[in-house]
Amino acid sequence: MSAVLQLSNVVKTYGDLRALDGIELSLPEDSYVSLLGPSGSGKTTLLRVIAGFEQPESGAIRFSGKDVSNTPPHERNIGFVFQNFALFPHLSVYDNIAFGLVNRAVDPVTDMKLLDRKVRDMISLVGLAGLEGRATTQISGGQKQRVALARTLVTEPQMVLLDEPLGALDANLRARMRSELRMIRERCGVTFLHVTGSETEALAMGDTVLVLDRARIAQQGDSDTIYNRPCSPAVARFLNCYNLFSGKMADGGFATAQGLLGFQGHPQRAADPAYAIRYDRVDIRPAGAAATADEVQIEGTFIASEYTGSAVNAFFSLDDGKVFEVEAHLSHRAPENYEPHRRYALAWKREDALVFA
Ligand code: ADP
Ligand code: MG
Repeated sequence: MSAVLQLSNVVKTYGDLRALDGIELSLPEDSYVSLLGPSGSGKTTLLRVIAGFEQPESGAIRFSGKDVSNTPPHERNIGFVFQNFALFPHLSVYDNIAFGLVNRAVDPVTDMKLLDRKVRDMISLVGLAGLEGRATTQISGGQKQRVALARTLVTEPQMVLLDEPLGALDANLRARMRSELRMIRERCGVTFLHVTGSETEALAMGDTVLVLDRARIAQQGDSDTIYNRPCSPAVARFLNCYNLFSGKMADGGFATAQGLLGFQGHPQRAADPAYAIRYDRVDIRPAGAAATADEVQIEGTFIASEYTGSAVNAFFSLDDGKVFEVEAHLSHRAPENYEPHRRYALAWKREDALVFA
């Protein structure tokens, strides 16, 4: 697959701060890409540099094979959907969507019939039929999000950048808009680069997931790879589904405050050593239960459980005060009741552990 966008060694500074510190990435055509990173990691800055609203100090940006470093934003043919939607409150849904086409810097649409057809096609694509005449102050959050998207897509960009597009929506709507956004993208066939601080959103939506850590791309891969084989403890931490132990390699395992933890195979190379076990790979047993030779077992004191709908997460306090989390999917097993302050054994298979050294 050929790349629609390539960045090499892109650096952007604000005074002493390196907001982007040598970004390397290559995005495939016709795909959904999510960019995951904690707040302040440089996500918005990266989008603004790609769109051309900010000039990087160094590095190259190639769009469809062409260097666009000196191309102004309105000539890049890249759409931008802002976090707060940025709709015109005094204009109707229809006029908000038409605005971009009429006022496009390159090739504005002046034929009213053509304009009407394009706007109506877009309104139906994003599921807003019937709301054309409404003011944008009289529609819901999800509908605003669709107007913002339609207003960008109607200009037929070759790529669309979305900055936390679902951040302003409530949880139910957010889940529904995820699949809608994916469907809309498939219909128009352009690459979406979707920025989010939510690991579940990034993994659920992206054909490709990029993880931004301290102004650099820490990992790029499909959701499965990122989820199952994070390339560093930092990436594992952002995914919010791994218990991490610091420590160091030792004879027969990885030495931590919990003792020697066994694993299989070779550790992955990383700057900061760590041992990681996924929340949903841990079995909870009565304290003192026997473990098999291919298992690792520690003990912890039960604190509390939290239901999330499809799963229950149980929290344990380890002897050094560290909190250890176990996730049980309710489709796999019925929820059990654990007794607060009681000790339990926490066991997992050696082969399920990830070790960074
Ligand atoms: P994110 O979108 O991941 O939360 P940002 O890209 O907004 O992160 O910001 C990355 C870093 O750059 C932050 O430390 C932020 O404070 C800083 N920053 C962003 N924009 C500016 C600006 N215009 N002037 C100075 N610092 C900025
Ligand atoms: Mg941001």
